[in-house]
Amino acid sequence: MRTGQINVQTENIFPIIKKFLYSDHEIFLRELVSNAVDASQKLKVLAANGEYKGDLGELKVEVILDKENKTLTIRDEGIGMTADEIDKYINQIAFSGAEEFVQQYKGKEGAEQIIGHFGLGFYSAFMVAEKVQIRTLSRHEGAKAVQWESNGSPEYIITEIEKKDRGTDIILHIAEDSIEFLEKSRVEGILTKYCKFLPVPVFFGNKTEYIDSPEGEKDENGKLKRVAVEVPNQINNTAPAWTKAPVDLKDEDYATFYRELYPMTFEDPLFHIHLNVDYPFNLTGILYFPKIKENVEVQRNKINLYSNQVFITDSVEEIVPEFLTLLHGVIDSPDIPLNVSRSYLQSDGNVKKISSHITKKVADKLSDMFKKDRADFESKWEDLQIFIQYGTLSDEKFAEKAKGFSLVKSSDGVYSTIEEYKEKIKALQTDKDGKTVVLYTNDAEGHFSFVKKARDRGYDVLILDGPLVPHWIAKLEQEIENISFARVDSDSLDNLIKKTDEIPSKLSKEEEEKLKPLFENALNKEKYTVKVESMSEDEAPLIITQPEFIRRMMEQQRIGGGGFYSAFPEMYNVQVNANHPKVGMILSKSEEDQSEMVKQLVDLTLLSQGMLKGEALNSFIERNIEHLQ
Ligand code: ADP
Repeated sequence: MRTGQINVQTENIFPIIKKFLYSDHEIFLRELVSNAVDASQKLKVLAANGEYKGDLGELKVEVILDKENKTLTIRDEGIGMTADEIDKYINQIAFSGAEEFVQQYKGKEGAEQIIGHFGLGFYSAFMVAEKVQIRTLSRHEGAKAVQWESNGSPEYIITEIEKKDRGTDIILHIAEDSIEFLEKSRVEGILTKYCKFLPVPVFFGNKTEYIDSPEGEKDENGKLKRVAVEVPNQINNTAPAWTKAPVDLKDEDYATFYRELYPMTFEDPLFHIHLNVDYPFNLTGILYFPKIKENVEVQRNKINLYSNQVFITDSVEEIVPEFLTLLHGVIDSPDIPLNVSRSYLQSDGNVKKISSHITKKVADKLSDMFKKDRADFESKWEDLQIFIQYGTLSDEKFAEKAKGFSLVKSSDGVYSTIEEYKEKIKALQTDKDGKTVVLYTNDAEGHFSFVKKARDRGYDVLILDGPLVPHWIAKLEQEIENISFARVDSDSLDNLIKKTDEIPSKLSKEEEEKLKPLFENALNKEKYTVKVESMSEDEAPLIITQPEFIRRMMEQQRIGGGGFYSAFPEMYNVQVNANHPKVGMILSKSEEDQSEMVKQLVDLTLLSQGMLKGEALNSFIERNIEHLQ
């Protein structure tokens, strides 16, 4: 037996470690299991080099829970340690790492992330254990098994022990304040989170499986009976899809892996991108493109970051551009520095390169898909558009590439790129000042009458829905010369696409002056501003519009999260078409008929725009039923 002092200058390092890492005690298990995996991998390498001549066996790591004795053991059959190695790696190196860590990171955020990278991994055991024992037999022939034991003070005891099997047991005597780690489900949860894809099999307890009866027993229908058997519960898949070569994987393998990653997700992803880089940095991974609908937030932050198959985190905001956090999947890179604070991460050269590499890969994949099979790409557009618009708005490089595959859909179902579309509508939809006006609706049903009027005139109308459309339109207007977007319900067609300066009015000024109050009386003056205008005869007799700029400002503020828009009162313009034959008839009627006709015109217009509701709708219907004869 030998006792010694762990080599530290700082007194009582453990209380400090414990305090620092308070938020994330569970990672002790990740650290110890990855050490065990490393020890197994190292032995494989030694065997491959001919430096280890013994029998490797089926290398595995076991996590053993003993609730009665309050211990949790991590067992491997790896390289093991001699007493000298314990002295070097555990007593000296690991502790100097711990000290360095404490000096540098006192009180800084992200301390949990970096523990493994200061050789502090092993000592994280003291976050949950009041005593830790290492029982180990080195791979060296004739080596003596040793036990190291420490109760968390800088003192330790080393003794020789009996141990037949090669490898290391780390035995944690769980502290009173950490008994949660003696719960099977808690331990299994941690293992599933961090160790699910480690490269050496990790076992924890048993699980029940159902198999055909080995004795050939039959049930009442004459079928083989299924019987329950207890089998060792393997936590991990040692060869997850991203570690394989793309040529060795079929589409269904990618789909299976997706379900392995997100067992609770039932919808299949749209497509995937397999990342495989080894220069100038190391990165592998598979990114999946989910079907993104309105509910963007729930889709976010599902990318898992691994380092050599060890799970690190699922918050990758600093590593990939924000719009890419909509993607799902795995990134594995030993080159992403974890031993730094988050703000540093953003300025790290490697991280920047990784981020722009991923952006480029995603843009290239979309561009490829568009070129290879445009019809298929169009069929996926509804699910792609938020993502592509998001990328276009937030990343200039992506925006540049996205011009080639950003689509717009006309109300007749035809898709075009922006460039194609401008060509398509230029001839008819350019106004007298040379501006090409893109007409759109976000609600083809609700705007049916507007869309129809526009199409009757030979104009095209786009269906642009989705939460980012207002911002996206604003960007296009800035970038493309002589183009402007107008929602079909924002003004009369004559005004939206002005072809001539003035359309002569069939009514005299006096007649127009007489008409105006008739309509004003039929409408709420606070909300509706009435104007009599000379429009084309084929325009509706009455149009209720909300000016494009006001509506867009409100929409943008709403998406931007400002609460300011609510300060805007709802306001509409009511344009009375002086040239419409029915409007022309009004003034020649009796007073009573005048107001009835105006009321009817107003209600019909509101109705056609989905704005006639409640009591107003009811009295409209009753009035019309009464007139039936
Ligand atoms: P790190 O793993 O980052 O080097 P640790 O504190 O986790 O730091 O471990 C320190 C060293 O102790 C390791 O580098 C390794 O040499 C040795 N070690 C830890 N666990 C084991 C194990 N299960 N088998 C063999 N050696 C181990």
